[in-house]
Amino acid sequence: MSEVLVLVEHTAGEVKKVSLELLAMAAGIGEPSAVVLGPGADAAVATLGDHGAKTVFVSTDLAFVDHVVVPTVDVLAKLVAEKSPAAVLIPSSADGKEIAGRLAIATDSGVITDAVAVSSDAIATQNVFGGATIVHSKVSKGTPIITVRTNSIAPVQSGGTASRVDVDVDLTALASATKVTNRVSVEKSGRPDLSEAAIVVSGGRGVGSDEGFKTVIEPLADALGAAVGASRAATDAGWYPHQFQVGQTGKTVSPQLYIANGISGAIQHRAGMQTSKTVVVVNKDADAPIFDLADFGVVGDLHSVVPDLTTRVKSHK
Ligand SMILES: Cc1cc2nc3c(=O)[nH]c(=O)nc-3n(C[C@H](O)[C@H](O)[C@H](O)COP(=O)(O)OP(=O)(O)OC[C@H]3O[C@@H](n4cnc5c(N)ncnc54)[C@H](O)[C@@H]3O)c2cc1C
Repeated sequence: MSEVLVLVEHTAGEVKKVSLELLAMAAGIGEPSAVVLGPGADAAVATLGDHGAKTVFVSTDLAFVDHVVVPTVDVLAKLVAEKSPAAVLIPSSADGKEIAGRLAIATDSGVITDAVAVSSDAIATQNVFGGATIVHSKVSKGTPIITVRTNSIAPVQSGGTASRVDVDVDLTALASATKVTNRVSVEKSGRPDLSEAAIVVSGGRGVGSDEGFKTVIEPLADALGAAVGASRAATDAGWYPHQFQVGQTGKTVSPQLYIANGISGAIQHRAGMQTSKTVVVVNKDADAPIFDLADFGVVGDLHSVVPDLTTRVKSHK
C-alpha cells in the first residue's frame, strides 16, 4: 500500500486537531505517514501513532521556526522524491496553502486546495460558489498535493504506535533568505481555536457594540464551549478583534454548528462559513439573505433571543 504523507501542524508538540483529521483521511487513500517538524516535534509522535500514523518523520530543527515555509517545503520535496507517496495532505491554513503551492512547483506536481473530502483514488471534493457547486478533481501530473479544510472528517483513535524516522534538514540558500525576527503572541481567550472549533457563535453589526459581544455573544459561546466569530462590519467597528473575522478576508470555518447573530449574509461573509454543517440564524429582518443558508432561523431581536438561548443551554447542562 502506498504511503500518504500528512504534514502536521503543532505547537511545541501539541498536535492541532486538523492534523489528526488528515490522518483519518489519509487512511482512506493509503498508509498514513506523518511529517512533524520544529521544536517539540518529538513529543507528537505518540499522539500521531495513536491516530493512525504508521511512520512519523521528525525533525526538531530550529530552522522551521527561524525561517518561513521553505525548510518545510524542502523536507517534503525530499520525502516525495524518496517515497513516491500516493498523495500529500496539508491543512488548508495560510501557511499550508503556501507550502502546497511551493511543493507542487518543487516536485512538478498538481495541487488542489480547500478540499473537504478525498477518495481512495485521490479524487478531491471542493465546495465552491457559496457551497452551491461541488467540484470533483484529480491531479493529472506528479504527486497529488491536496490542502484539506478543518472539520472535514472526524479523527480516528486507532491505539497504534508509529515508528519514528529522523529526517535531516539541509538549509538551502533559498530557505535562509528570509528570517523570522519576531513573533507576537495573540491574547488567548481560553475558547477553542476559531478555525478548528466544532461550534462557532458569530456576531455582526446587529450586536451593536463591543459591550454586546461581551454580554450577549460570549456568554452563549461559553455556554456551548464554542469559539466566537465576527463579521467584518463588527471587526471594522472595533467591537471585536480582527483575528476573529469570518469570511473572504478573514478566517474560513467549517464547524458542526454555526450560529449567526445580527449578520445579514453578504457573499464575503458566506465565503468563510458556507460549509458549516448546521447553520442557525438570529436576525430581526425576515428577508436577510443569511436565512437562505439557515437550517434553523429565529426572526427576532438578538438582544432578547440570544440571552434566552444561553439560559436554556445552561439549564440543559
Ligand atoms: C473585498 C471585501 C472583502 C470582505 N470581506 C469580508 C469578510 O471576510 N467577512 C465579512 O463578514 N464581511 C466581509 N466584507 C464585508 C461584507 O460585504 C459586509 O459588508 C459585511 O459582511 C456585513 O456585516 P454584517 O452582516 O454584520 O452587517 P450588515 O450587513 O449591516 O447586517 C446586519 C444585520 O443585523 C441585523 N440586525 C440588526 N439589529 C439586529 C438585532 N437587534 N437583532 C437581530 N438582528 C439584527 C440586520 O437585520 C442585518 O441583517 C467584505 C467586503 C469586501 C468588499
